[in-house]
Amino acid sequence: MSQSALIQANKVRMEFGEAEQRIIALNDVSVSLFAGALTILRGPSGSGKSSLLSALGGLQKPSGGVIKAMGEDIWSLPETKLTAFRRRHCGYVFQTVGLFPALCALDQLVVPLRYLGFDVQSATRRAEQALAEVGLAERAHSLPSEMSGGQNQRVAIARMLSKDPAMIFCDEPTSALDTRNGARVAELLRNAAKARNAMVFCVTHDDRLSPFADRVLDIEDGRILRDRRGAAAKHDARESENAATI
Ligand code: ADP
Ligand code: MG
Repeated sequence: MSQSALIQANKVRMEFGEAEQRIIALNDVSVSLFAGALTILRGPSGSGKSSLLSALGGLQKPSGGVIKAMGEDIWSLPETKLTAFRRRHCGYVFQTVGLFPALCALDQLVVPLRYLGFDVQSATRRAEQALAEVGLAERAHSLPSEMSGGQNQRVAIARMLSKDPAMIFCDEPTSALDTRNGARVAELLRNAAKARNAMVFCVTHDDRLSPFADRVLDIEDGRILRDRRGAAAKHDARESENAATI
């Protein structure tokens, strides 16, 4: 990980509510995220995972701190510029897949690409390539109701990949999937980091994803407590697997 950071977050705070009701979801989190790596953020429910993803991904303004993404201080941008920045550079995958019920897999990708300004031919070519990348070339003309949950999540990943984002943000992308489909999604996200040199930041409480990660961050009570890379991250993943079987 010798590359420069795509995201540099400095003392990010996220607070909700007033006085006694105040919740500190993020407590001065500083972290850098790099291209070409799948980074997983793990932590129990309520630990601040989605808050951090939303702040880094330009979806929810933090209460304090600075987030630079690709050199831009994103939260100082006017709303229209931030929206354009997200459209151009960011891809998102959520637990709820969010496909249009009436569109076939190919059109789930072509329609947003057309909206981004691609002509019909290049949108279709990109869409076909992305569906092939997730192993769904044969299902291009299937509707969501004709496919499994795992297949639909892969369509959502293809839709995200088709615009070739530099930064990919995933919030619990495997929570609704069984182990085999979850592993498949994790592999796709890892491949996206490697083959496209994308930064992939994946939030999960699912320990099964850690073996696929280049880096594992552990968050609790709005603070990052551990940051392990490479073999250390994988070693720890094995330890927690063993712990889970005891
Ligand atoms: P996680 O994704 O790890 O489950 P979140 O980032 O969603 O955690 O939430 C962190 C804390 O912030 C939790 O205590 C949660 O209840 C609180 N929180 C998150 N979003 C809001 C909100 N919009 N309003 C009030 N509290 C919130
Ligand atoms: Mg969450």
